[in-house]
Amino acid sequence: MSEQNAGNGRDELLSQLEDARRKVRDLERQIAEYADLEAPALTPAAALHKTLARVLKKACMILQAEKALLLIYQRETGELVGQSPAVGIPDDQVHGLRLRATEGVTGKVFRNNEAAIVADVGEDPAGAAEFPQPIGWRNALIIPLIVETKDNDQVVVDRTTIGVMVVFNKRRGKEFSNEDLRLSRVLARNASAIIAEARLFSDVLERKTLLETSLESVHSGIVMVSSDGAIRLMNKAARALFDIPPTVDPIGKSYVEVVTHPDVIDFVSRSLSEQRDIDSEVTMEDASRFYHSQTAVVRDSGTISGIVAIFTDITEIRNLERLKATFVTTISHELGTPLSSILGFTRTMLEDTEGFFTPEVRNEFLQIIEKECRGLNRLVWDLRNMARIDEGRAIELHTAPVNLAELVRRVVAAQQPYAPHHEFVLELTDEFERAPVIADEDKLDQVLANLVSNAIKYAPSGGEIRITGDTTDRGVRMSIADQGLGIPKDQLDKVFDRFHTVQGREGATMEGPGIGLYIVRHLVVLHGGSISVESEFGEGSTFTIDLPLVPPSREAAVGVGAKARPE
Ligand code: ADP
Repeated sequence: MSEQNAGNGRDELLSQLEDARRKVRDLERQIAEYADLEAPALTPAAALHKTLARVLKKACMILQAEKALLLIYQRETGELVGQSPAVGIPDDQVHGLRLRATEGVTGKVFRNNEAAIVADVGEDPAGAAEFPQPIGWRNALIIPLIVETKDNDQVVVDRTTIGVMVVFNKRRGKEFSNEDLRLSRVLARNASAIIAEARLFSDVLERKTLLETSLESVHSGIVMVSSDGAIRLMNKAARALFDIPPTVDPIGKSYVEVVTHPDVIDFVSRSLSEQRDIDSEVTMEDASRFYHSQTAVVRDSGTISGIVAIFTDITEIRNLERLKATFVTTISHELGTPLSSILGFTRTMLEDTEGFFTPEVRNEFLQIIEKECRGLNRLVWDLRNMARIDEGRAIELHTAPVNLAELVRRVVAAQQPYAPHHEFVLELTDEFERAPVIADEDKLDQVLANLVSNAIKYAPSGGEIRITGDTTDRGVRMSIADQGLGIPKDQLDKVFDRFHTVQGREGATMEGPGIGLYIVRHLVVLHGGSISVESEFGEGSTFTIDLPLVPPSREAAVGVGAKARPE
């Protein structure tokens, strides 16, 4: 070749190279413009999908490739996992694609942050194992996806490789070139930025959803009011508290419009205008529920953006306080009355130094003292058992075969002396007489004695006390019916609660401490049974007990437990 020809050839090549460089610069500009346009601050999930699809399509166009795909690194499994969207590859193939990040060219690209080309599979069979063949690939260009974190001065402070982008099959049967490698880096940077934004977005979204679900499931009512008085947030408990129907959306409305409770409006407006936290107590309209309410001023980088009001239900605490007060009054009365009687009779006898009282009279006094002491003993026993139940300590059963009919007759005989105006009627069937019941006799004695003594006590003018006993499918049923004061319907289910004594009834002075039925129900339930009451106010009450023939777990029956209640 002459020198002239060689010079022409070189000029020709140089101008071709210049042409190619111009083309590359044009393409780079296109990509850069595209990047500016396509990297919004926060990308909603759907828009992100669309944007990534466009990035991949553009990559195919620029790199003259047929297919493109993103593989994102999954830390838990150590795999690069196929993500939609992809170009030219069906979704099911994309989602099924998992490559170990430690293997193959793809793994190397991911680990070394260096793009690589897998040449034509036909000519380089070693590369054939890189991707599964159903994808239909011939050659590939694999590019790392690197996310850069910048500080406020736009200085890169962190670089993380989050996966790889792969483009397949250079068009017109060609191979990918080094020029393609250079172009692909710009494209990959663009895709990485979008994925990073998406991650940020999904993190924020996840945190927001988590916060919302937590707030919704909190039992306390939470309301957030902005400085202009508009409701910004109101959880489920608060909507229930202020009786807001599900069809009404309180968000954006003025709190005065939504929260109609005058006390709440008052302390929310005070907290807003005085810009300080306020503690208060709110009673709901029907005075049935009490709430501790608290406001907290919300500061957003120094400026006050509103307040949060929290309403905590303290009804149970209030009820307990009330119960405690009633308990102290009742117990001091229950202890005081017999004690003054005991003291009175003892003193009378001690002061009788001259033997004024005959031995018979003294004996009568002593019998009264003994009766009062027995009553006190019973009360102390009841209190101790109540404490055991409240503390969740089981009262153990000592079970053995029990002749229930005999027990009923014994209880009636023991109580009869205290009921001169009452007539006892026993209706015990033959089956009941023979029922093979296994139970704790002392405890059932206490149950029956309690119900019979209540029947006497709450029928002060006497009348019939009918006790029935029969068998059922499961075991036995007993009922104790009186013709006494009766219990108002609205208090029927409360008589088994501790300290509950029926309100609004003539002759209320006879009420005791209200723990007898509480213990009775516990003992019946312990036997695997149930107790219920029916009553006609002013006409009488019937208490019914159902018991199984054998208590649920006899094994639990062995061992020491609460002792039998004293007579
Ligand atoms: P107390 O020690 O007050 O008698 P109980 O727990 O045995 O407590 O009973 C609770 C309340 O239920 C009583 O105070 C009484 O008001 C009501 N009660 C219980 N038995 C009867 C009954 N047979 N007739 C009417 N009221 C009853």
